Amino acid sequence: MKVAVPKERAQDERRVALVPDTATKLMAAGLEVSVEEGAGSSAFVSDADYEKAGVKVVKGAASLLANADVVLKVQAPAAGEVDLIPNGAVLISFLQPATQADIIAALARRGVTAFSLELVPRISRAQSMDALSSQASAAGYKAVLMAAGRLGKFFPMMMTAAGTVAPARVLVMGAGVAGLQAIATARRLGAVVSAYDVRPAVKEEVQSLGASFIELALETQEGEGGYAREQSEEFLRKQRDLIGEHVAKSDVVITTAAIPGRRAPLLVTSDMVKGMRPGSVIVDLAAETGGNVELTRAGEDVDVGGVTIIGTRNVPSTMPLHASQLYARNVANLLLHLVKDGAINLDFADDITKGSCITHGGEIVNERAKQTAAPASKS
Ligand code: NAD
Repeated sequence: MKVAVPKERAQDERRVALVPDTATKLMAAGLEVSVEEGAGSSAFVSDADYEKAGVKVVKGAASLLANADVVLKVQAPAAGEVDLIPNGAVLISFLQPATQADIIAALARRGVTAFSLELVPRISRAQSMDALSSQASAAGYKAVLMAAGRLGKFFPMMMTAAGTVAPARVLVMGAGVAGLQAIATARRLGAVVSAYDVRPAVKEEVQSLGASFIELALETQEGEGGYAREQSEEFLRKQRDLIGEHVAKSDVVITTAAIPGRRAPLLVTSDMVKGMRPGSVIVDLAAETGGNVELTRAGEDVDVGGVTIIGTRNVPSTMPLHASQLYARNVANLLLHLVKDGAINLDFADDITKGSCITHGGEIVNERAKQTAAPASKS
């Protein structure tokens, strides 16, 4: 069975879906692995590194994909790329089912069996395939470094001959995977960290990392599967009123709040930003899904009266080596879950296979993706 890894073509995407170490694991399971020439170069993995591991390097996506049985990618393929994937092949990738209805429909028409990493169920059996978590960890870590690089202050308390400097105050909003990693990183740098989440279940995790948990007089918003549920505008208004004083006191605010498949909730208004001290920094990790901060512009840094709002897109891609390494393990584990005796063997009675499969046999098979696709197919 032939596994193909094309070079990522989306703008600013530096990750690659498979690194040599992980390719070796697939080859040991009897699979043949090829990568497109230059596929790993922006993640600091050379063609020679792949060749050394026994991976075939092929020039051009068209020749690479022509005989592929399985295609591994990071970003959803563009329309032109879908046409290169052979009918009946398996694709494993992030596919952004909530916003990529046209590409999902094109994959179904093409007869591709596509697995969306966003849909891998968050059960313990699937933890090693959880690319949302591995990439969120990279984002949470990097968010803190981006903030520290911009802040005109030290993170730790500094006792110097010239006097003592107080530590920076960091507020993390949303204590999921990215938020917890941001808390841990900011603590390692010596900042005083506080955090807030609508799921009080995270309180102990926040505290165990050495941060304080902010409790607001609000009802909890715990939804299915450990995620937050969608919140009413009334709830978010109350939340903003109560969190405002904590934002004003902070040197750094890192926002990571998300609700799966929905626009990111608005947590920080422009008035709240204006209430922060000049020199403060906000990193909005939800920039691409609408932003947690009213004035965020995805892909840009915005200056609001001396407060910088960083809206970098695709933060994991700014750490391409480790982000690719972790992603590759997630993808390889999902692929090996779908393989028996060296061939794809789909068991739709299995929660992981059924849950993450989005197109199969010419149809969109995921219920939520079907609903998203419906309006697009009518137009
Ligand atoms: P996410 O990216 O969807 O959301 C990030 C955080 O934002 C969540 O903690 C959410 O509660 C929070 N949030 C939403 N609205 C908010 C608001 N208005 N104000 C403040 N915070 C808000 O979530 P995630 O990080 O991908 O995962 C969330 C949780 O899922 C984890 O903490 C964990 O409990 C669970 N999880 C389980 C597994 C597993 O069992 N394999 C793996 C990963 C995550």
